[in-house]
Amino acid sequence: MKKAIPILLCMMSHLALGQSDLKSTVDEKTSSIEDQVIEWRRDFHQHPELGNQETRTAKIVADHLRSLGMEVQEEVAVTGVVGILKGGQPGPTVALRADMDALPVTERTDVPFKSTVRTEYNGQETGVMHACGHDTHVAMLMGVAKVFAEMKDELKGTVKFIFQPAEEGVFSPDVETWGAKQMVEGGVMEGVDAIFGLHINSQTEVGKIRYRSGPAMAAVDNLKILVKGRQAHGAAPWASVDPIVTSAQIVTGLQTILSRNVNITESPAVVTIGAIKGGVRQNIIPEEVEMIGTVRTFGDDQQELVHKRIAEIAEKIAESAGAKAEVTIEKIYPSTVNDPDLTSRMEATLKEVAGEENVIYSDPITGAEDFSYYQREAPGLFFFLGGMPKGADPTEVASHHTPDLYLDEGGFVLGMRTLAYLTLEFMEQN
Ligand SMILES: [Zn+2]
Ligand SMILES: [Zn+2]
Repeated sequence: MKKAIPILLCMMSHLALGQSDLKSTVDEKTSSIEDQVIEWRRDFHQHPELGNQETRTAKIVADHLRSLGMEVQEEVAVTGVVGILKGGQPGPTVALRADMDALPVTERTDVPFKSTVRTEYNGQETGVMHACGHDTHVAMLMGVAKVFAEMKDELKGTVKFIFQPAEEGVFSPDVETWGAKQMVEGGVMEGVDAIFGLHINSQTEVGKIRYRSGPAMAAVDNLKILVKGRQAHGAAPWASVDPIVTSAQIVTGLQTILSRNVNITESPAVVTIGAIKGGVRQNIIPEEVEMIGTVRTFGDDQQELVHKRIAEIAEKIAESAGAKAEVTIEKIYPSTVNDPDLTSRMEATLKEVAGEENVIYSDPITGAEDFSYYQREAPGLFFFLGGMPKGADPTEVASHHTPDLYLDEGGFVLGMRTLAYLTLEFMEQN
């Protein structure tokens, strides 16, 4: 009994110091591998691969994880790679995710590691470019893997490194699932207690982090409306059921969903018709018109409401004209929802690693991310990492998915540190 108190005190101080010691180790190690991570990133940048074709990238990742002594799974969901690092102490399983795919974009930057890769996509010849910055995600996560492998004995839990294919989708009518969804179907989230991921951003300054609690990025759904009428001579419209006039009314009617049905004080939504096809010449009223578009929503209830109203408006307007509207809505990605409880528990860590003044609470983003599929299996937090050179104007720099996308490599250390700190913090709290 006499001895118990000093031992307990000693253990407590060891635990308290342990966490900050681990964080300083992360700081040192991430700084010391910065050059290596930049080198990896440039190599991936010069050798971009489209969704589900990331075999070269996957091999480099798998070889790296194996060299660190990890248990490695390959060809998960086509080209995905998963590395499992069991820490020296018991604790939760934390997953960290990077996406590996590039886009059919012809690079126009003049960096020395510019991509000159070309391919055929959707029947057209095109360049291939890491125009979304996923090359940086792979390199940073390889860096975190190295840092944690060297600290293995100190880790209070397991880290699962997920390198997924095809975040941007794949162009093939035969493929039904891709990217995160097929990784989840492959079982990668089994036993995972929390997941963290980041996206670099060309319009956020290096050194800064952006995040949002709850629905942070939109669900994306593909919309198709087929309006069927009756064909007639353009000079005798009374003999027709005109799908063109009907479609025009439907397009206008759809705009009332956002102005009259969605509670815009809670969250935004988008209904866009992007293409209308119908008719072949000036004096023939066609039989059919096809419209396609995109729907963006934040949350299941709002998504259900918007889908219901699209169908009602299209079908009833068509009916009032004597036509018929067939509405098809294909769900692509759910909304990226940062678990509010996890996010509030991690806010202090984001501020600790980046500095309070460098953490920005983001507006909802109407773009989408398939990270959302992981967040349906376990609480997750997805944040944005600054990749814009300091002092640049965010309205002037190239955005993602464009030939001129340029990313400042100066933020990689912060990216690695943030993923590592979040992991350590979650392990400490659980
Ligand atoms: Zn993208
Ligand atoms: Zn992306």
